[in-house]
This record gives sequence, C-alpha cells and structure tokens, in this order.
Amino acid sequence: MIYFIGAGPGAADLITVRGMELLKRADLVVYAGSLVNPELLGYCREDCEKLNSASMTLEEVIGAMTSYPTGSTVVRLHTGDPSIYGAIREQMDELDRLGYDYEVVPGVSSMNAAAAVLKAEYTLPGVSQTLIVSRMAGRTPVPEKENIRSLAAHGASMALFLSVSMLKELCEELIAGGYAPETPTAVVYKATWPDQETVKGTLESLPEKAAHIGRAALVLVGGFMGGGYERSKLYDPAFSHMFREAKQ
Ligand code: SAH
Repeated sequence: MIYFIGAGPGAADLITVRGMELLKRADLVVYAGSLVNPELLGYCREDCEKLNSASMTLEEVIGAMTSYPTGSTVVRLHTGDPSIYGAIREQMDELDRLGYDYEVVPGVSSMNAAAAVLKAEYTLPGVSQTLIVSRMAGRTPVPEKENIRSLAAHGASMALFLSVSMLKELCEELIAGGYAPETPTAVVYKATWPDQETVKGTLESLPEKAAHIGRAALVLVGGFMGGGYERSKLYDPAFSHMFREAKQ
C-alpha cells in the first residue's frame, strides 16, 4: 500500500501516531527533503530505502513509489499537511491512472504550528471569523481573482505561505488592499524546528525587521494578534446551547 503522510511542521514528535507507525513499517520512504526534518527518518527501519524528492520529477517519484511489490509499505512524506501546497493531487491522479491504491494520513500544518508558537487564535470573536490561506504569485502563478490585494479587502486573518521572499511587496499589496499599516503582522520561520524564529511587527515595520528571513516561513496578518476581542458565546454564562443551559 502507498501512504501519503503529513510529516507535521518540523519537530519529530509532531507527526501523528498513525504516520509514525507507518514510517516504522515502511520499505520505501520518498520524502520532501527541502522541509521534512531528517530526524523523522529515524523512525524508519535500518533497511528502509529513503529517497529525497527535492531533486526528483513527478515521473521519478511515481516510478519509485510503484517499483515495490504489492504488499510493501511505501510512504510519500510531505511537510505539514499534504492538502496545503503539497502537490499531492497530481500524484494521486497518476496512481489512479496506473491502478494503484493509496491512503492519505493528515498532518499538522505549519499554519497550526505557527499559531501555537505565537500562542494565537486566528478566529477571535469580534475580530475575524475567517482565516484566508493563500500565497503571493511568484514564479508559480495564482489565479487572478485571488490576488493579495483583493483578498486583503476582507480584513480577515491571513496565513500566507511561500511568500516571505517577497515580504516587502506582500505588505504593500496588503495595505493597498485595505489593511491599516499598523495591522499586527508576524513572520514565523521554521516553526517547531530547533532554529525556529519569530519576528513580530506591523505591515509597515515587518519588511525591514524580517528582511533576513528568505524562506521556510509563514507570514501571518491580522487583528487576531492585537489586543482587543469579545468573549466567546460558547463559554458565556448567559448563553445556552446544546450542552449547557444559561445560568440566570
Ligand atoms: N504542506 C505544508 C506547506 C508546504 S509549502 C504545510 O501544511 O505546512 C512550503 C511552505 O510552507 C514554506 O514556504 C513556508 O511558507 C511554509 N512552511 C512549511 N513548514 C514551515 C514551518 N515549520 N514554519 C513556517 N513555515 C513553514
């Protein structure tokens, strides 16, 4: 069986138990070497074959994954959760075409890890109930209707992947789209790795403060990192719901 597994954001104990158990059994692991912590490969058997996909094409990845006999355990290890910028769909479609069965094991995305590092909540009552997950167009395009400026118009919380190398332009676009220049903004580099780094500021100040970070970071934007919010209804004594009656 072939398993697509989310490795989590970095720390080796942030993979799921299911993912770890499959790594222990694996005959072959094809891992996304640019951001998967090599420590995770320590869960594998000594004789497990390990291939770094960083220098491989889709065809080579599929070729490797399908080269093992039926009954083997083959793992495709992606960073974070594979459903977010994982390029997993094209692999699954190719396996479908070739008649191979597979399963997907989710992982902790770096956007969850970055919030944990900041001790933040993206969906604060009275601030924003929406998290926009996106990226800036670079060498890889983004559909025109999803340009950063138009997404910014919502004033929602934002988690921006693959964009830190264009931080100055990104912050300018966000301001042009309607965020106040003083909107709280953070760059979280390699969340949960030993060399993790966090830089906090505003849309205005961050491009300079975080200029030394060129990759492997998330840009988080929004009032959720500021001071004000409302109490949740869920735990409000005056609010009844399915599991609790309001206290008079
Ligand atoms: N599937 C992954 C994202 C892969 S795209 C996930 O769910 O997290 C790669 C981008 O993810 C990087 O450019 C960076 O923006 C972000 N990223 C991945 N791991 C990260 C980490 N530990 N800390 C901060 N950002 C990370």
